[in-house]
Amino acid sequence: EYADISLKDIDQVSKSSFPLCMRHLFEKGVGLKLDDALAFWREEFTKKVGSERFDKEYAYAIRHNYGKEGKRTDYTPYACSKIITSAPGAGDHHGCPYRHFSEDNLKAALSRMGLSSRGMEDVMDKVRNKHYQLACTLTFEAVYGASCDTGINHPNQYFEESQKILK
Ligand code: SF4
Repeated sequence: EYADISLKDIDQVSKSSFPLCMRHLFEKGVGLKLDDALAFWREEFTKKVGSERFDKEYAYAIRHNYGKEGKRTDYTPYACSKIITSAPGAGDHHGCPYRHFSEDNLKAALSRMGLSSRGMEDVMDKVRNKHYQLACTLTFEAVYGASCDTGINHPNQYFEESQKILK
């Protein structure tokens, strides 16, 4: 039923509802049809991360982006704690940006999400203290102007909580 969702819509959803980690993944797939996107990502990443990991971390994000995610168990991405403790190699696009981006790149990404300099400083403060999930939670709260009392534990949770606020 989502087959006709336009790439513009997907792009919009990614900008409005994705946590930073999924945004980063998604930006590489914009402008492609689902099958092409899956092929693109598979080609791009399986040599580096293996097909099992591709299906866990990438195929889910891509299918989710395209509104075709039905069988969650097949593609459920890792929880934040696991993403944060994984070590992406040079040139990889997965990982938690709060943990794995340079300070300059992270600030630029936060700026694109619309954070004020004050909000950004609060987030960077958490990052410097290695509280990456709190940094993500503060970002969520700054972007949506709503509190997230449970904190962010999973990329899907961020997405779902944001959808609740936006609807
Ligand atoms: Fe993604 Fe979790 Fe990192 Fe937020 S804290 S960017 S949801 S991995």
